[in-house]
Amino acid sequence: MKDNYGRTINYMRISITDRCNMRCRYCMPDGIEKVSMSKILTYEDILRIAEAATGIGITRFKITGGEPLVRLGCADLIRDIKALPGTEQVTITTNGMELAKYMPDLKAAGIDAINVSLDTMDKDKFRYITQCGDLEKVMEGIESAIASGIRTKINCVPQKGFNENEIPDFAKFAFAKGIDIRFIELMPIGQSDAGKGLSNDAILSKLSEIYPELEPDGSIHGNGPAVYYQIPGKKGGIGLISAMHGIFCSSCNRIRLTSQGMIKPCLCYEESIDIKPALEGNIQDIQELLKRAVEIKPGQHCFNEMPDNIEKRSMSQIGG
Ligand code: SAM
Ligand code: SF4
Repeated sequence: MKDNYGRTINYMRISITDRCNMRCRYCMPDGIEKVSMSKILTYEDILRIAEAATGIGITRFKITGGEPLVRLGCADLIRDIKALPGTEQVTITTNGMELAKYMPDLKAAGIDAINVSLDTMDKDKFRYITQCGDLEKVMEGIESAIASGIRTKINCVPQKGFNENEIPDFAKFAFAKGIDIRFIELMPIGQSDAGKGLSNDAILSKLSEIYPELEPDGSIHGNGPAVYYQIPGKKGGIGLISAMHGIFCSSCNRIRLTSQGMIKPCLCYEESIDIKPALEGNIQDIQELLKRAVEIKPGQHCFNEMPDNIEKRSMSQIGG
């Protein structure tokens, strides 16, 4: 379906839980309210919404959270969404802690790609930023995803004075493993204890010094707004998601479903549509609300203006 700005909306991010087994400082503020399971959409509800979404042209789904792999049955949901006639692709974004354990189930479910979030490869810094994460388990998860042959990417949020010195290490890691590393600019959402973000321009110039042969790669690597760079002859690439410094909104293709059943037309604004009442009705009732969300999608984000109606929920409640 096209929105009012002529963009094709064919991608839905589905957050299946607000809960997480990490507490990344920029994502999950202290004291965040724990949502009871009764307020979270059931898998049956999510599947009905996904089915309705395929009827309005959504063909690609991302399973996210909170941490999606802490909700039991995540791989079963992926298998069921994959089985919908209109589905082309189902992918997941995970912090990787439970990835090695669930990799066989995800593969059996037919997952199309796996994004693992990793901000640092230094054990102490990892403990600091995630507050309770285990780097060894995450690295094991990444290795198992790569070994499965399923397309694997790393997502990293660069922060001044924290992990900026590791940017070359991440690039080296990506080229050595033949996978993509994507640098995502820190966004002013739900940050209780965030450092300062680093612009992708700074990252690109740093990497170009080390890899002068780095060149733009126009090929499509996924559903996201990343701009890619490659080194001719090398497997793996560098993706830059310039959330703050580049206006990527003109190619936005997505809507979001939160775990509590709110459809978000845009990450940046708090405006959302409660889909739960439509779950009492038929598939057309659900589709009407999904279409409404597409219709009211704003032209571009508001991070540079920070208006009153900017999103106040944390990223873990929205799904990133
Ligand atoms: N728990 C999973 C994970 O970490 O991949 C999925 C959910 S998490 C909210 C999705 C992504 O959002 C992660 O890559 C995380 O680094 C990113 N994220 C969280 N808060 C952010 C912020 N303020 N700015 C930019 N990215 C953020
Ligand atoms: Fe959890 Fe992912 Fe947020 Fe970290 S970024 S706190 S792993 S939801």
